[in-house]
Amino acid sequence: MKKQGLLVIISGPSGSGKGTIVGELTKKENFSLSISATTRAPRPYEENGVHYFFRTKEEFEEMIAHQELLEWAEFCGNCYGTPRAYVTEQLQKGQNVILEIEVQGALQIKKLYPEGVLIFLVPPNLEELGRRLTNRGTEDEETINRRIHRAIEEMELVQKYDYVVINDTVEQATEDILDIVHAETMKCSRNQEIQKVFKGEI
Ligand code: 5GP
Repeated sequence: MKKQGLLVIISGPSGSGKGTIVGELTKKENFSLSISATTRAPRPYEENGVHYFFRTKEEFEEMIAHQELLEWAEFCGNCYGTPRAYVTEQLQKGQNVILEIEVQGALQIKKLYPEGVLIFLVPPNLEELGRRLTNRGTEDEETINRRIHRAIEEMELVQKYDYVVINDTVEQATEDILDIVHAETMKCSRNQEIQKVFKGEI
């Protein structure tokens, strides 16, 4: 029987660098990256079906009603959710899957998949977070302030995560996450079939 893939859930305040780190992770290893659905308007460089599946509020509600989402949450006035089919298919195929989602969704996933690995990515400090959000230039001042406020709230949930990684440099944070993933795949609880191999049962 094929071993299930590992579900890696990365959260962290906007501006913590999640997007960049996830991009690096997928370059270095063969992860399946789940594309979320959202009611947020696309940013200029964003493409439907690449960065997100951009949906109207009505379409999003239909996805919820048809149980097409593994989890969903509201974040700063918009809805975001993880399409169920892709994630379950990939895990069953033995593929490791990354979700880049906010805290409420991550905690919902942990209930459904207790074996999932929750990683919280943080910027080195609050000033750096503000600087990154401003430099990104994709949000107006009010949205930036809302996101900083939200970041402080999210930090309170860090203790519910399995790991915290400080994103000081992209290279180091990426390596740290890969170390976590490698150690997790070697956990005895994920390798119970090894006994059977030695007994010649499989
Ligand atoms: P942004 O608008 O900056 O793309 O995303 C805002 C927040 O929503 C980020 O923290 C991002 O990780 C989170 N997010 C993106 N997709 C999902 C999803 O499918 N579910 C949940 N719960 N959060 C998501």
